[in-house]
Amino acid sequence: MTLINQNKRIGYSQFFAGLVVLLMGLIQVGCGDGEEPSATGGSGAEAKPSVVTTTTMLDDLARTLAGDHVEVVGIMRPGQDPHVYEVLPRDAQAIASADLVIANGLNLEATLHGVIEGNAKGKVVYAAEHDAIETLGSEDYEGAPDPHCWMDIELWKHYVTSVRDGLIAIDPGNQADYESRATAYFTELDELQTWMTERFAEVPESQRVIVTSHDAFNYFGNANKIEVHGVIGISTEQAPRPQDIAALEAMVKERNVQALFIESSTSPTLNSIVEKVAEQTGAKVGGTLYSDSLGMPGSGADTYITMMKHNVNTVVDALK
Ligand SMILES: [Zn+2]
Repeated sequence: MTLINQNKRIGYSQFFAGLVVLLMGLIQVGCGDGEEPSATGGSGAEAKPSVVTTTTMLDDLARTLAGDHVEVVGIMRPGQDPHVYEVLPRDAQAIASADLVIANGLNLEATLHGVIEGNAKGKVVYAAEHDAIETLGSEDYEGAPDPHCWMDIELWKHYVTSVRDGLIAIDPGNQADYESRATAYFTELDELQTWMTERFAEVPESQRVIVTSHDAFNYFGNANKIEVHGVIGISTEQAPRPQDIAALEAMVKERNVQALFIESSTSPTLNSIVEKVAEQTGAKVGGTLYSDSLGMPGSGADTYITMMKHNVNTVVDALK
């Protein structure tokens, strides 16, 4: 059953890639410029290198390291779920004209992967597919690595290195700037980790267990000694089975789990299951966590660092 799921997922990716390539052809033949995002600089001045990012976390990272040396186009908007993102024809166009495409990889962008492979002409960085990142497995997708590596700050640092090196490769003239911004960002990440460790110390070890809508927090849990359970596995494409929900309820009662959490980028159906499990077991809903997307601008979780702070504060305040 697991294998069938995986095959089906790959099939969809290929289907979408083919469809988008076809649509691009039709658009080019049939009409002029639409309102596709421009990945190049303004006319007259020398065009800046163009960078396309998939998720909102990667968009934040690219902008943090690049400053105004490059033009960054983010494909996904805050709140969009990368597992089931609906590819637009303009995405393929942006990817085709980019000097650098930055994606997570490890099949997080299940629908976009084929579009990147089929259209990218410049450099492509799959930031989670770094040699130094040891991935966790998945109970639900046998053999498939868990793609949510950004949830561990130490692993996110490898994303930083990959994106920095990608920027240097397409724009070597600004190497010193990319390196100094990355160094400053590493310091901020170290400060974030120190603060996180202090906050988690407020939670007694016996209470360090949480339930979330989907399995996006395994790396987060690993790094911070929190036991994490998801209503469903590492992708939001599946529907939970009744026996999984029953087993989860039993676990919540047995382990006396204090709080369950909904996620900002997963479906309302999935989040309502979390609320029902909380109701059935007497546990509370501890709040909303940002898993696969940053928050909207002004939400207080619109950068990687503020998103992590929001998640830690929400978890610690609910568990302590
Ligand atoms: Zn996810």
